[in-house]
Amino acid sequence: MDQTFDLLIVGGGINGAAIAREASLNGWRVMLVERGDLAGETSSRSSGLIHGGLRYLEQYDFRLVAEALAERERLVAAAPQLIRPMRFVMPQVPGLRPRWIVRAGLLLYDLIGGRRTLERSRSLKAGDAAYLAPLQGDPGGFVYSDAQVDDARLVVLNAIDAAANGAEIVTGIAVVRAERVADGWRATLSDGRVVAARALVNAAGPWVGEMLAVAGVASPHRVRLVKGSHIVVPRLYEGSHAYLLQQADRRIVFVLPWEGGTAIGTTDVPVDTAADPAIDAEEIGYLCAAVSAAFARPVFPADVVTSWSGVRALHDDGAGSAQTVSRDYLLAVDAAKGEAAKGDAAAGDAAAGDAGAAPVLSVFGGKITTARHLAEAAVGRLAPLLGLRARRVTRDRRFPGGAIGDPDAYLAQVRARWPFLGEARAARMVRAYGSMLADMLGDIGDEAGMGRALGGGLTEVEARWMRTREWARTPADALERRSKLGLAMTAAERAAFAAWWQDDVASVQPHHVALQ
Ligand SMILES: Cc1cc2nc3c(=O)[nH]c(=O)nc-3n(C[C@H](O)[C@H](O)[C@H](O)COP(=O)(O)OP(=O)(O)OC[C@H]3O[C@@H](n4cnc5c(N)ncnc54)[C@H](O)[C@@H]3O)c2cc1C
Repeated sequence: MDQTFDLLIVGGGINGAAIAREASLNGWRVMLVERGDLAGETSSRSSGLIHGGLRYLEQYDFRLVAEALAERERLVAAAPQLIRPMRFVMPQVPGLRPRWIVRAGLLLYDLIGGRRTLERSRSLKAGDAAYLAPLQGDPGGFVYSDAQVDDARLVVLNAIDAAANGAEIVTGIAVVRAERVADGWRATLSDGRVVAARALVNAAGPWVGEMLAVAGVASPHRVRLVKGSHIVVPRLYEGSHAYLLQQADRRIVFVLPWEGGTAIGTTDVPVDTAADPAIDAEEIGYLCAAVSAAFARPVFPADVVTSWSGVRALHDDGAGSAQTVSRDYLLAVDAAKGEAAKGDAAAGDAAAGDAGAAPVLSVFGGKITTARHLAEAAVGRLAPLLGLRARRVTRDRRFPGGAIGDPDAYLAQVRARWPFLGEARAARMVRAYGSMLADMLGDIGDEAGMGRALGGGLTEVEARWMRTREWARTPADALERRSKLGLAMTAAERAAFAAWWQDDVASVQPHHVALQ
C-alpha cells in the first residue's frame, strides 16, 4: 500500500474537482483520480452558463433555481476573471408563453436569488438597437441577466485550489478496482498503484453506475443519459449579449457569443452511452431552424464551422421526457447503514451513520453552476461518517486568479505592465488566468521573453504553464480545454505544436504550487 487518504475521488469533472477543493480546504487528505483529462468529458461540453435556469421555474423547481441563483452571485464574485455577467434577450413568441407569465417569471428570477451584482430584467424597448438589429422585426420581449463561464477552466481552478491545499490530483489514470476493507477502501489504479482511502467519492458523471459496479455496490439510483449539442457559426451579431429563443416544442435554444463566433444550443436526445458523443444531422437541422425562425439572417447546416456534444447524466426521477427530467442532483451514500438524501442535504445534516463504515458517496446529476454547493453538501454528508470536521470553507473564497478587483481596471493594469501582449491576447489571458498572470509573466519585458510562438497566439511560456501547473498532458488538453486556441490553428501549426510539446515534456517537469 503506497498511501492512505481520507477521500479517494473518482472523476475530475466539475463535481469531483469541487469536492476535492472543499475537502482539502477542510484539511482532509484527498486524492482525485481522473482517467482522461480534467474536464475531459461533460464538464467541457456544457453551454457554459452560470445560471439559475429560468426554464426550471416552469417545472416548479423553485429550490433548484434559488440555490443556483445564489451560487451565481457567489461564483461571479469568486472568479470575476472567468465568470462574466451576460445580458440575455428573450424575444416574445406569439402563441407560446403569454407575456405576463414571462414577466412574472423574470420578476421571480430577479427576486429569489438574492441578486446583488447582476442587472435586473426589463422589457425590450424600441431603443434597444443592438439587441433588436439581428432579429426579424421587433418581436417585443425581455432582457434579463445570467453569467457565462469557460467550464473547463473552472474545473482547473478548482483543481489548482485543491492541490494548493494538499490534494493529490492524478490524470490519465483510471480507478479499475475498488474493494471495501475493514477500515475503508482499497483501490487499484490503472498504473498498478494501490491506494487506501477511508471513503470513496464516485463523481464519475455519466459513468456513476459503472463505478458503483467496479466498487461492488448495488444502488437503487440510475442516471438517464441525454445528449445535448451545440453548433458554432461565424459571428451572427455584434455585442457580448446572448439570446434565449423559445421553441414551439417548449424547449429553449441559446444563442451565445463564443470564441469570436456564435454558438447555438442545445438539444435533448436520449442516448444509451456517453462515449464519444457527436452531433447528428437532425440536431443540426433543429438548431439551424430555431435560429432562422427568429434571426433576420438564416443559418444553414453549411454555415457550421464546428460543433460539440455532451451527455447529461440526469438522476432518473421517473419523468416522462428527457427535457422534463429534473436537473437537480442527488447524493447517495452507501455506508454500513445506507442512506440517501435529495439535493439540499446540506453540510452538517448527515449525523446518522457510523464512523468507520467505509462509505461511498455517489453523485447523480448536477450542474456546473451548483457544483460548489454540491461539494459542500457532499463533504457535510461524509464528515460524521469519518469523524472529521466540515466547515463551509468555500462560500466566500476566491478562486485562484480571482484577486483582480474590477475586470476592466485589471485588464488596463495588465496592458500597462506587459504592453507587448496586445489588446486581444491580454484580454484572453486575463480571462483565463486573472491574477495568476503575475506568477506566469513575472518580469518578462518583451515578446522574446515569452519564448517561441507556437501558433494561435500561444507561446512557450503559456503552454508550459498549462503543462506544469494545470495538468495538461497532451497537446489536445492545452488546445481544446485549457484554451480553445486550437480552433484558430492550421493543421501544420497543430502538428508543430505537438512536436514542441513532446520535446518539452522531456525537458521540464510539472509542479503544482500555491497561487493567488
Ligand atoms: C449540452 C450540455 C449543456 C449544459 N449546460 C450547462 C450550463 O450551461 N450550465 C450548467 O451549470 N450546467 C450545464 N450542463 C451540466 C454540466 O455540464 C454537468 O452537470 C457537469 O459537467 C457534470 O460534471 P461531472 O463532474 O458530474 O461529470 P463529468 O464532467 O462527466 O466528469 C466525470 C469524470 O469521471 C471520469 N471517470 C469516469 N470513470 C472513471 C474511472 N473509473 N476512473 C477515473 N475517472 C473516471 C470521466 O473521465 C469524467 O472526466 C450542461 C450539460 C450538457 C451535456
